[in-house]
Amino acid sequence: VGIARTSTRAIHTTASASSSTLSPVAAAHMRPVNGFVGAIGNTPLIRLNRLSSETGCEILGKAEFMEPGGSVKDRAALFVVQDAEERGLIQPGGTVVEGTAGNTGIGLAHVCRSKGYKCVIYMPNTQSQEKIDLLRMLGAEVYPVPAVAFDNPENYNHQAKRHADRLDNAVWTNQFDNTANRRAHIETTGPEIWDQTDGKLDGFICATGTGGTLAGITSFLKQKSGGKVQCWLADPPGSVLHSYIQTKGKLMDREGGSITEGIGQGRVTENLKPDIEKLDNSVHVPDEESIAMVYDLLHEEGIYVGASSALNVVAAKKMAQQLGPGKTIVTILCDGAYRYQARLFSRKWLESKKLDTAIPEHLQKYIVL
Ligand code: PMP
Repeated sequence: VGIARTSTRAIHTTASASSSTLSPVAAAHMRPVNGFVGAIGNTPLIRLNRLSSETGCEILGKAEFMEPGGSVKDRAALFVVQDAEERGLIQPGGTVVEGTAGNTGIGLAHVCRSKGYKCVIYMPNTQSQEKIDLLRMLGAEVYPVPAVAFDNPENYNHQAKRHADRLDNAVWTNQFDNTANRRAHIETTGPEIWDQTDGKLDGFICATGTGGTLAGITSFLKQKSGGKVQCWLADPPGSVLHSYIQTKGKLMDREGGSITEGIGQGRVTENLKPDIEKLDNSVHVPDEESIAMVYDLLHEEGIYVGASSALNVVAAKKMAQQLGPGKTIVTILCDGAYRYQARLFSRKWLESKKLDTAIPEHLQKYIVL
C-alpha cells in the first residue's frame, strides 16, 4: 500500500549537461505516476549549505514543501484514507471527516477529490485564513471552531468524530491516534531518508503535531541502524513534550502558545506512544529563533518555508552544535510559507506578537506586508 517507491534521489545527482537522456535515478522519477496520490512522497533532501559550513556538519532538510498538496501531511492523509478503505470503513462516494490544524485537511481534501470522496474539516479558529480558503477551494466543508483543550468535548477533534457518527458511509480518520499516520513515515519517509544518505546519518530531529512524522521516522531509523541514529524531538513553546522527555515521563499542563502552526502537543498521542521512549533527547526552540530562521532560510538558502520548518532547522543546528562537527543531521521542511505569508511577513502581525525585533537588521527588508 501507499506510495510507490522508486529508487530515491541521490543528494548530489546532477544530469549531464551534454546529454539529453536522464540518469537512471532521475529517469525512475520521471515516469508518469498514477493520479494525485501517485505524486506523494519521494521528495528531495536538500543540503542547507550555509548552516552546514557554519556548523561543520551536513545539515539536510527533507523537502516536504514539495509534496503535491504542499506539506508533509500528504503522506499521512493518503495512509489514513487507504487504511479506512482497506478496513471497509468507507465506500465509494463516502465522506472523510477530520480535525486538523490545516495541513492534514489540505492533504485529505486533495486525496478525497482524487478518489471521489466528500471531505469535512474541523479546525481551531486560530489557524491562518490561507489554509481555510484553500480547503474550501478544494471542495472541503470547513468548520473553524473555538480552540479549546483536548479534554473539552467541544475540541475540534471530538466535533469531527461526532460529525462522522451522524452520517452514513463516513469515517473520522482520527490522525492523532490512528497509527496509519505513523506507518506512512515508517514505510516511506524513513526509508527515503535512509536511501538518500546511504544510511550514513547520525541524527534526526523534528517537531510534532500528531507525532506521526517523528515517531514513524524514529521507529524506522532506530530499527535500521541498530539504535545508532540519534533521534531527538524539537518542541515549540506551549508544548509539553520537551519537559516530558527531560523529566523522563512527567506530563505538565499546557501553558502559553507559539506562532508555529501545526506543532506542539499536550499529550502523548497513540502515534507517539510506541516510540517516545526511543528518543534520545529534545530541544526547546523559542518563537524568536523560529521566526528569524524563516527569514534566514530565505536570505541564505533561497528556501521559503513556514515556521515549523524553521523551528526544525534551528533545532537541527542545536543538535549539530551538541553532537560536534562531521555529523550528518536530517530534519523536515514541513511546508511552504505561502500558507502563512499574511502573518509571517506582515510588520503589523509581527509587532502584535512582539517578534518584529527578533528579525535581524539585514533581514528586515523581507517584511514586505
Ligand atoms: N508542521 C506543520 C506545518 C504541520 O501542519 C504539521 C502537522 N500538524 C507538522 C509540522 C507535524 O507533523 P505531525 O503531525 O506528523 O507530527
